[in-house]
Amino acid sequence: KIVTRFAPSPTGFLHIGGARTALFNWLYARHIGGTMLLRIEDTDRERSTEAATAAILDGLSWLGLTWEGEPVSQMQGAQRHREVAEELVRLGKAYYCYATPAELEEMREKARAEGRPPRYDGRWRNRPASDAPAGVAGAIRIKAPTEGETVVHDLVQGEVRFPNKDLDDFIILRSDGSPTYMHAVVVDDHDMGVTHIIRGDDHLTNAARQTIIYHAMGWTVPKMAHIPLIHGADGAKLSKRHGALGVEAYRAMGYLPEALLNYLVRLGWSHGDDEVMSIAQMIEWFDIKDVNKGAARFDFAKLEALNGVHMRNMDPDALTDIFLKTLPWLPDGEEIAACFDETARERLQKAMPGLKERAKTLVELAANTYYLTASRPLQLDEKAATILDTDAKALLKQVLLHFQQLDEWTAQTTEAVMREFAENMGLKLGKLAQPLRAALTGRGTSPGVFDVLDVLGREESLGRIQDQID
Ligand code: GLU
Repeated sequence: KIVTRFAPSPTGFLHIGGARTALFNWLYARHIGGTMLLRIEDTDRERSTEAATAAILDGLSWLGLTWEGEPVSQMQGAQRHREVAEELVRLGKAYYCYATPAELEEMREKARAEGRPPRYDGRWRNRPASDAPAGVAGAIRIKAPTEGETVVHDLVQGEVRFPNKDLDDFIILRSDGSPTYMHAVVVDDHDMGVTHIIRGDDHLTNAARQTIIYHAMGWTVPKMAHIPLIHGADGAKLSKRHGALGVEAYRAMGYLPEALLNYLVRLGWSHGDDEVMSIAQMIEWFDIKDVNKGAARFDFAKLEALNGVHMRNMDPDALTDIFLKTLPWLPDGEEIAACFDETARERLQKAMPGLKERAKTLVELAANTYYLTASRPLQLDEKAATILDTDAKALLKQVLLHFQQLDEWTAQTTEAVMREFAENMGLKLGKLAQPLRAALTGRGTSPGVFDVLDVLGREESLGRIQDQID
């Protein structure tokens, strides 16, 4: 059984890189018929917060990236991490080190002077337990191999070789009894039955150290896939300006979860030339072997275009649901949401096929819904007010008379009346449609004006026209 996991540290929001890591783990598990687990790596007590954990869970839920069972708290495993560290000492694979902070600083100094990375010199590696200073708690260090290489068999990066002389006897349990991150990850992944570790390639060196712990315990090393990091459009490390925001910021910008996932999956993975894909297709097609080695670049314009495509492709009723659910997170969304009473919701549903063609994000869509929620008399925006000059009002008066005689009120019948009237007056249809739109929507732009007439219905439409000619 294939088991993947997403293991965020709750030190901030779920950022876009983390979301992509979660997505790859989730997709791979789905693709292969396995499961994804969630582990909150909360051992850094200073920097971990409840709020961050909540934000991560919320972000994952919004994206629909589900995990099996309860989230595992790494903190809760401290006892077990300690036991394994002690077990390694018993096995002769690890040892207590009593080097003082001053001694360690000296080692660092020396490394600096010699221009090489700091390295523990192994001074406690072979000393008998009887040398231990009384009353001092030691740290536990792994007895790392000193010769040869540690090889990480990576599904994305290939065989990555680390000369063992560069990997020192790192600490697995601090002198206060707390596990290091390096050690806790190995014990947890083993105990949780994780078969595949998919994470950012900034963890590649950790992978070598973790491999040493697996070998020392005689445990099977999970398959690993280190995926290239996401960079900004200019190739530099992803910063806030580039889009390194929490996923909730993307929700507030009006992106659909499905579109964001589609965008993220293409950052570092591809399936032929396919750009637009549904979640079902992502699951069907995703495979680790198709993950690219090179860094991916984040591009807002592409995300926005893709979001527009997903909105257009979406079933209007489903989009209506998502829109109403997302509204409270959008700018001014709570106020807009408060305006959506029963009538406005019905209108929204009817208008959605037209609305979704004209918006690339839910924010844009929200901006186009004023006419659905407005009550008479409408507040005209500047453009609409300019359009509705004296001449325009005179025309509207005539349009009103024609409309009043209409029995059957649909987009087709209203259009037929308008066309006939325009023809008789020797006017272009647009000349009539413009003031009509301004009167009906209070805006200079809107979905097709006949659809608007249909959505608002006879009574409301006639009332709004009347309001502007009085
Ligand atoms: N907690 C680590 C992080 O957030 C991930 C560790 C892992 O995936 O092994 O970067």
